[in-house]
Amino acid sequence: MTATPRTSLEELPLRPELRGRTPYGAPQLRVRHRLNTNENPHPLPTELLADLGAALGHAAVELNRYPDRDALGLRGDLAAYLTRTSGEPVGPAQVWAANGSNEVLQQVLQAFGGAGRTALGFTPSYSMHPIISAGTGTAWVDGHRREDFTIDPAQAAAQVREVRPDVVFVTSPNNPTGTAVALETITGIHDATSYGHGRAGVVVVDEAYTEFARTGTRSALTLLPGRPRLLVSRTMSKAFGMAGLRLGYLAADPAVVDALQLVRLPYHLSSLTQAAARTALAHTDALLATVDAVKAQRDRIVAALPGLGLTSVPSDANFVLFGRFADAPGVWQALLERDVLVRDVGLPGWLRVTAGTPQETDAFLTALGEVARELH
Ligand code: PMP
Repeated sequence: MTATPRTSLEELPLRPELRGRTPYGAPQLRVRHRLNTNENPHPLPTELLADLGAALGHAAVELNRYPDRDALGLRGDLAAYLTRTSGEPVGPAQVWAANGSNEVLQQVLQAFGGAGRTALGFTPSYSMHPIISAGTGTAWVDGHRREDFTIDPAQAAAQVREVRPDVVFVTSPNNPTGTAVALETITGIHDATSYGHGRAGVVVVDEAYTEFARTGTRSALTLLPGRPRLLVSRTMSKAFGMAGLRLGYLAADPAVVDALQLVRLPYHLSSLTQAAARTALAHTDALLATVDAVKAQRDRIVAALPGLGLTSVPSDANFVLFGRFADAPGVWQALLERDVLVRDVGLPGWLRVTAGTPQETDAFLTALGEVARELH
């Protein structure tokens, strides 16, 4: 029997702007040390696992019914977490949740971007921002960064005034560089999105890694009062160590939440997801207990690099951008051959490594030491 020839994408009536694109694709390889997707490697607390079993069993009894469409209980728990950790009072009506912050960002673009509209983000930054923009028919413009990957506040505001984007992304701490953005830079960018004649843009501060920030870094949540076009997105995938749960959320003016409800699919958050997320939030302190340990490993990696003749970008996240290499893809391959998977984010000269357990740091630094010796 001959196999049916595989249909190529060119043969399909695909939207023209999606032609030639590649899907988001961090390799999911069976490697001993997986340090490429910024997950938290610490095992979940056993008390949480027990409570999750009970909560999911309880929720399963009602699986014949649709979930709470507005996820009110979960949004209340998330609002309480944000209020407690930022000192900024955040109410449930200001919070929205979806399947990962990727889905939250997609809903933001569906509501505020789309055909004929433009999004701008300061590259290099999170690669999904332009990908979700393309998926929602939103045009994309690269914003400028300095050589050291920081954002020049005056240049950023000027670029926003010139391009007049409908949606601006500011990732803080930034992925893949780890760079935190000063609140004054964010307010400057926000002020620049008032274009006059009733036109304005929204500013999304993507705070996926904010729990790992070094002391003294304040969340953009504190900027929300009086700024209805400022949106702060968060996730339980990183510091909470719940990447498999798929739970992201956003805090903003209640009117923004009303806008997102116009585009969300009904019952988008399953009863199981809502129950698991609420159970995890009840164990917030135990879950976040690993954050300091991860930060210590990040700082250990940063401190060890100069001894290997390497450097890094100052990081407020749970990863480090390190280099510089004449051949970063070659170093990526050499580390993989030593059972260490890091991320080649496509930035010439640089690679990104996730900070995790002390054993992972040992394995990474040992492998990198061998590779660095071969290079010199
Ligand atoms: N924002 C940033 C900056 C990220 O790095 C990631 C994950 N890599 C996300 C958002 C999405 O996370 P999730 O969908 O798992 O919440």
